[in-house]
Amino acid sequence: MSKERNIIIFDTTLRDGEQAPGASMSLEQKLDVARTLAKMKVDVIEAGFPISSEVQFEACRQIAKEVKGPVICALARAVKGDIDSAYNAIKHAAKPRIHTFIATSDIHIKHKFKKTPAEVMKLGVDAVKYAASLVKDVEFSAEDATRSRIEFLSEIVEAVIDAGATTINIPDTVGYTVPSEFSAIIRELSKRVKNIDKAVLSVHCHNDLGLATANSLAAIEAGATQIECTINGVGERAGSAALEEVVMALAVRKDAFPATTNIVTREIYNASKKVSSYTGFTIQPNKAIVGKNAFAHESGIHQDGMLKSRETYEIMTPESIGRESSSLIMGRHTGRHGFSEKLVQLGFSLEKSAVETMYTRFLQLADKKKEVYDDDIIAIVNDGLNLTAADFTLDYMHVLSGNSVIPSATVRLKKDGTSYEEAASGDGPVDALFNAVDKITGIKSKLGDYEIHAVTGGKDAVGEVSLSIIHDDERFSGRGASTDVLEASLKAYLNAVNKCRNRKKKAS
Ligand SMILES: [Zn+2]
Repeated sequence: MSKERNIIIFDTTLRDGEQAPGASMSLEQKLDVARTLAKMKVDVIEAGFPISSEVQFEACRQIAKEVKGPVICALARAVKGDIDSAYNAIKHAAKPRIHTFIATSDIHIKHKFKKTPAEVMKLGVDAVKYAASLVKDVEFSAEDATRSRIEFLSEIVEAVIDAGATTINIPDTVGYTVPSEFSAIIRELSKRVKNIDKAVLSVHCHNDLGLATANSLAAIEAGATQIECTINGVGERAGSAALEEVVMALAVRKDAFPATTNIVTREIYNASKKVSSYTGFTIQPNKAIVGKNAFAHESGIHQDGMLKSRETYEIMTPESIGRESSSLIMGRHTGRHGFSEKLVQLGFSLEKSAVETMYTRFLQLADKKKEVYDDDIIAIVNDGLNLTAADFTLDYMHVLSGNSVIPSATVRLKKDGTSYEEAASGDGPVDALFNAVDKITGIKSKLGDYEIHAVTGGKDAVGEVSLSIIHDDERFSGRGASTDVLEASLKAYLNAVNKCRNRKKKAS
């Protein structure tokens, strides 16, 4: 076996992940995710696709300015306008990267571009040349590479390396390849492309067949040195390769892969919770590494084995990804200082005023709930971070419900110091609450999904509601937490409605 290689972890949670329907995050949330990624020591952060919207541009710009450590990358189609926009968004980063792409498969060339391969090649080369005149670090992606003819793929890769590309990315854009085929493509490219040693070879896998992680690992075995991935595997359609899966597979199976990463794995769980909360995408309980049950040993035989020796059924420890067994050290008597230390320990870096707000929320929770767990604190803090200044926030709610009355609700919301109050009825108490909110905000939407789960055990557990609303064919997700499920529902609904309002404001 060759000697250990260092694998570059390229995180695209903020670009590919955020592109998933309903996963959009606010500017503040994106910055917070970027800071978390930097703390985790990812090598590259793809911060967004600046030409696509004002918000994307601004997010890239602020991340480039504020987040230190990783390379900050922005996406651009192989067009001058896109590249200019990407450059302007990230030029203040210490290590800026422009990532340009063009499709190389016959299907895309014929149906999407209506061009010849030679024309596509010229566009790709020109784009890379132009990007390389602006920054040193240029990545080129051959979109739909796994369905491209290897002859053409090799030609274009060789040409863009000559034009100045320093990283070549081979995406499985539609999640179609399988591990053996993918490693063959990577090996074949390394053989055919004469100047391949002048660039870093990268892969970007999608999970349409559930193979994103397996394909990424196969590519590493075949010689790829950069993996593009996202926290929790969020991404278009069925998502992308999950950062936590790729990184932990390399860490746990050092014997199988002669490769390491720079990732501080103890930050994984915190990042996972954060991204789940901000996007409103709940994590399935059996999700590898970060799912609720990933380290739960229920059956008697397993528990018995675990008690005798953890290694009997545990291939990695929950502590290795920063999942401590929930400790219940917080309660009504916890002081400000203890609380703010806890926040730091849980990976939050909040300003003083925000800590103060969270402390008040914590005390309110501790009044209702005797034992406050880490997960409860994470839930209320993430819930609070979902708010921005111009948003509607809950001031007061009253619900009337029962098995022989028409459910009705009164809701008072606040925005920029003004109060708004409305009452409405509905099919149930939740419906009545949402109808009252609609009357205030004037936004009519359809409820997409609605899900509720307990953050920790016990009857007084904090309930977390995740839902999505559909407005003008666009989906917005929201999340809210409270010991009262109706309040959690209302907060989640407000979170989604606020996102929808913000989007509309920016669009107009
Ligand atoms: Zn993708």
